[in-house]
Amino acid sequence: MTRRMFVKGAAATAVVVPAIAAMQSPGAEPGENAKETADLEKYRALGGWVEKPDDLQPALEGDVSSDVVIVGAGFAGLSAALELARQGAKVIVLEREFAGFGASGRNAGYLGGGIALEYDLFLKDVGKARAKEIVRYYEDAVPFVEGKLKEHGIDCDYNPSGLIRAGIHPSQEEKVREGVRASAEFGVQSVFLDEAQMRARGIPPAFLFGEYTPRGGTLHPGKYVMGLRRAALRAGVKIYENTPLLSYIEGPVIQVKTPRGSASAPVLMLATNAYTPQLGLLADKVVPLRVSAIETEPLSPAQLKSLGWARREGVMTAHWVMESHRVTAQNTLLVTTKRLRYPYGSKTPNVPDYDQYRELRTAMRDRFPTLKDLAVRACWSGYISFANDALPVVGTTGSNQNIFYSAGCSGHGVAAQSMVGHMIAQRIRGTEPPLLAAVRHETPSTLPEPFRWCVLKGALGGAAAMDDWVNRKVRDASA
Ligand SMILES: Cc1cc2nc3c(=O)[nH]c(=O)nc-3n(C[C@H](O)[C@H](O)[C@H](O)COP(=O)(O)OP(=O)(O)OC[C@H]3O[C@@H](n4cnc5c(N)ncnc54)[C@H](O)[C@@H]3O)c2cc1C
Repeated sequence: MTRRMFVKGAAATAVVVPAIAAMQSPGAEPGENAKETADLEKYRALGGWVEKPDDLQPALEGDVSSDVVIVGAGFAGLSAALELARQGAKVIVLEREFAGFGASGRNAGYLGGGIALEYDLFLKDVGKARAKEIVRYYEDAVPFVEGKLKEHGIDCDYNPSGLIRAGIHPSQEEKVREGVRASAEFGVQSVFLDEAQMRARGIPPAFLFGEYTPRGGTLHPGKYVMGLRRAALRAGVKIYENTPLLSYIEGPVIQVKTPRGSASAPVLMLATNAYTPQLGLLADKVVPLRVSAIETEPLSPAQLKSLGWARREGVMTAHWVMESHRVTAQNTLLVTTKRLRYPYGSKTPNVPDYDQYRELRTAMRDRFPTLKDLAVRACWSGYISFANDALPVVGTTGSNQNIFYSAGCSGHGVAAQSMVGHMIAQRIRGTEPPLLAAVRHETPSTLPEPFRWCVLKGALGGAAAMDDWVNRKVRDASA
């Protein structure tokens, strides 16, 4: 029997904390006025989409048992819990804060399939046949979620608009066209839209051309994850919130320790994604990367009209690290990603990242110059988990191979992590879906620290420099 212990990560402050944010702010950039700085201090430690639920489920007290214990109540953990409960299993979910506190409550809400994948990162390692199945897994995950929204009656402002991977400068055209070619090869339905077609669709003029896929669209992640939570509670899943996993003892029956209780079950599922390395697992396979978002105040009817963009397709850019831009159902503009940050030692502190918010605001102004005075309503950050080959990391561990895990979503987990949770549940019940078998593979190892930090810092810095070159060209052309 092996005992694993670890320390709870940085405690989260589940409130809007402008005062604390102000203390931590690196201060205004030269030329930035007080209003501009205040804008970026609208930091939300919870992300932009969720509040602590009114019916917060009580923390675990005492000793309980079940068929399966799941740790983490994001898309993966809750989807697994729902499928297990549907199959008649007794399920316990332990969540450190509350459902949706992780990336599932902080993301940009793009429900996408294969379009955002970087095939080059994994094609060489897994071969073409396997790569096709992996792309199929991402593609199938979209209708899977669409079906679950209907099945559970989850209204999350889903707009099945399709998605566009757009170029903002002619130098990106070959990359976008190559994306369309690769999509066709791997079974992703998409078309190239030239400038006239982009304008005919009403896509804002900063986005010159793009790869359009009709699959997927955008949703409100907070409403989606809270809908899953409600459905799980309705299905009889016992969720303990405010209940961090502190340690577990492996064996035919796994014992899980929490601050005021314990749970035992023959199966444990770690649905902790970017936080998994802190549990002493996958520390050499995945790294957490901090991703940030800013959301503006709602656009006025006149601003919306001037923008066009009638179908509100979610747009991602063809940068090395994409920018994503969308208009929400609340008529706000949401801008995410653009920069990724790796915290030394695979830590995941729940802290603001003012440099990223500033970069995102610059991107918003560059792409939407007529909206440059639009105020920011909220800024937040969260963590994705990234494997060297950018593929999901799914498998089993423990002396009895009865500990299941899922991580490595690489920022494409709204659809994929939902479906992987469901598929892991099916495997726990004895039937492995073929697409889960296709995704399971040997993940290349990451370097130990401090080399890992150095390599990631260099790679992310290089990507930022190349993206900045493109952005400068665009600015020069419009000056
Ligand atoms: C800013 C941002 C934008 C993104 N945009 C998109 C997008 O548009 N489209 C897309 O497909 N993907 C996007 N992603 C990625 C996507 O959100 C994730 O892939 C997905 O939400 C991961 O779901 P999950 O359930 O695996 O993990 P999470 O949602 O992170 O859930 C893990 C849970 O485990 C809990 N936990 C951790 N440790 C413990 C412990 N010791 N004990 C108990 N509980 C614990 C955490 O509190 C958390 O709730 C984005 C991510 C971010 C951060």
